[in-house]
Amino acid sequence: METAEKIKCLIIGSGPAGYTAAIYTARANLNPVLYQGIEPGGQLTTTTDIENFPGYPEGINGLEMMEQFRTQAQRFGTDVRTGVVTSVDFSKLPLKLTIDGRKNIEADSVIIATGATAKYLGLESENRFRGMGVSACATCDGFFYRNKNVAVVGGGDTACEEAIYLSSLCHKVYLIIRKHYMRASKVMQERVNSIPNIEIIYGYNTKEILGDENGVNGVLIAAEDGSEVKLQIDGFFLAIGHHPNTEVFKNYIAVDEQGYIKTKPDSSKTNITGVFAAGDVRDSKYRQAIVAAGSGCIAALDCERYLRGEV
Ligand code: NDP
Repeated sequence: METAEKIKCLIIGSGPAGYTAAIYTARANLNPVLYQGIEPGGQLTTTTDIENFPGYPEGINGLEMMEQFRTQAQRFGTDVRTGVVTSVDFSKLPLKLTIDGRKNIEADSVIIATGATAKYLGLESENRFRGMGVSACATCDGFFYRNKNVAVVGGGDTACEEAIYLSSLCHKVYLIIRKHYMRASKVMQERVNSIPNIEIIYGYNTKEILGDENGVNGVLIAAEDGSEVKLQIDGFFLAIGHHPNTEVFKNYIAVDEQGYIKTKPDSSKTNITGVFAAGDVRDSKYRQAIVAAGSGCIAALDCERYLRGEV
């Protein structure tokens, strides 16, 4: 049997958290190896221009930004590899991981930065207009819809937050809820109800997102009785939840009721010695690139101290 490769610092995930952890650990001579995962570059590669990441006064395309993150991590010696972690054994040190079901690794430390994935409805038109009017992040993309009409789908706290955020930028916000009530907390419901340019539409599912080569220009929604309504919109925002990418770790790593990794207060340490978590995989609240990057830095510093023997 092939012997396992020994790695001092293994980083899993290639979003802002993973690459920031890589930059810091590489500069600290920890020879990090980073596996990019299923979606190299992470969620930012599916968004449009990023205008709220400091240091890019003109904004930057998400894909381009993640290429720059990678280049910076490689400049200091990070070994960036394609591959997905398919199983782990964190029952004792060294930490054991399998990549793509066949390559074995023994790591002294692991930084998990596998992110979270926004849930989509599964419509073909949603895919077609992704980045052309369809978005899963109002804070990222809302600015492009100033004084326009948009729709938010979902009835939870995230949907309310997104609708409230968009209401201050957009002319009109439709909040489309499939049930006849909201799941959101009372306080959020009261807030959306009190904002005049948010129109809440209960009991409708999204049937099709409409548009042309210029992007989204409408949405077709349908009630249970089959009746359909067409709304004129320029932006369609998904807010039907995220799922953290923690499946492969869940037999060992403590997660909360939504599956997000639990970390010790004021640190990136998980319940397993030598395993740290950074970015959206441990953050159901802020979900911003800049926060993930900061969190990657924290994990790198914690990891460096751990490897130096300062627990
Ligand atoms: P939730 O799971 O709470 O809500 C998801 C919403 O999307 C529900 O209304 C659900 O409808 C709807 N939905 C799911 N699938 C579909 C679909 N296919 N078509 C139409 N609608 C769909 O997710 P959130 O992201 O809103 O919240 C996650 C957690 O984070 C919650 O615990 C929330 O309280 C918390 N949170 C807290 C915030 C705060 O305190 N400020 C801010 C944001 C989130 P249905 O009800 O019919 O299932």
